[in-house]
Amino acid sequence: MNPIFAELPTTIFEEMSALARALDAVNLGQGFPDDPGPEDVRRKAADAVISGWNQYPPMPGLPELRQAVAAHYKVHQGLEIDPMAEVMVTSGATEAIAGALLALIAPGDEVVLFEPYYDAYLPLVRRAGGVPKFVKLAPPDWRFTKAQLAAAIGPKTRVVLFNNPLNPSATVYGPAELRLIAEAIRDTNAIVVADEVWEHVIFDGRAHTSVLAIPELRARSVKIGSAGKIFSLTGWKVGFTVAAPDILKVLMKAHQFLTFTTPPNLQSAVAYGLGKDAAHFDAMRADLTARRDHLAKGLASAGFKTLACEGTYFINVDLAPLGLTDDQAFCRRLVKEAGVAAIPVSAFYADGGMRSAIRFCFAKKYETLDAAVERLARYAPKLAA
Ligand code: GLN
Repeated sequence: MNPIFAELPTTIFEEMSALARALDAVNLGQGFPDDPGPEDVRRKAADAVISGWNQYPPMPGLPELRQAVAAHYKVHQGLEIDPMAEVMVTSGATEAIAGALLALIAPGDEVVLFEPYYDAYLPLVRRAGGVPKFVKLAPPDWRFTKAQLAAAIGPKTRVVLFNNPLNPSATVYGPAELRLIAEAIRDTNAIVVADEVWEHVIFDGRAHTSVLAIPELRARSVKIGSAGKIFSLTGWKVGFTVAAPDILKVLMKAHQFLTFTTPPNLQSAVAYGLGKDAAHFDAMRADLTARRDHLAKGLASAGFKTLACEGTYFINVDLAPLGLTDDQAFCRRLVKEAGVAAIPVSAFYADGGMRSAIRFCFAKKYETLDAAVERLARYAPKLAA
């Protein structure tokens, strides 16, 4: 068996969700909302199952969805995208990322990853033959410098895999930081693969800047989006890849032999949803902002110090003030003894180096958030012991 997968543990999300189920804990670990998602979008999918096309759709996606993706990014991010030459529909962002890595990396090529990286990245990079180079980010601000990029990027760099907003740190990177990346790869053959699945889930008036909005990056980047995150329908697994025509052509070759297509009924429902007006997306953000603030307040009252949350479904607790130095051990203790599941952030570092933060998901019902806070508050006095 291939050792990269044979030696891989089960994902931290699955491990913590399984523990939460077994121990009847409140699960603020794995990031999925307990909101059912917009009813009109779900009805559209149901109608399409009954009365629509249920055979293979075109390999790069339904034209109506490719057009809707281009139109959506024009309205929300000011991007000019050619739907037929530059947009491909995938079965979720994970397939889009895996396909991009398989298509772009040749064995021995270097791939730059920002730690904490989403857990799927490293095994996929390795399996594609890539040699990882890390840019290590640290709390409280999780920012990177020009010098860090210069140390990681060089003539052998093929891909810079960049997640913005960044899960799990909940950081949003702006144009200045994207320009640092553009500058760092200027004299290389590197392509930026930007996982922008959290693009709509940003707070406090922030605006998302896509890699495609940076002129020097427009023709050498791959932008990946996800209907799962845009509509709180994480199980649908409808994603999209946007890239310049010469890059997209190669990505389609990987896609055609990975999943080939994505359920057409879900595609047409997503095409409809992407056309919803700005008020819909504003309301989604306002709702999540209120839940973020509610959990942050609760955590603070239970004696936990939270780090800034600029986007995503997640807020991190800083373990340093509690004198705790092992986030993994603490999460296992918390799920068993307090009855609350969280995710240790060190799971997103190759060497497990940074052990002082744990991640909570706030995209949950208020009573779920309250139940977690109540359990944590009850447990907090035991922490000193
Ligand atoms: N994206 C989800 C998270 O960050 C996890 C998805 C999964 O379990 N694969 O929590």
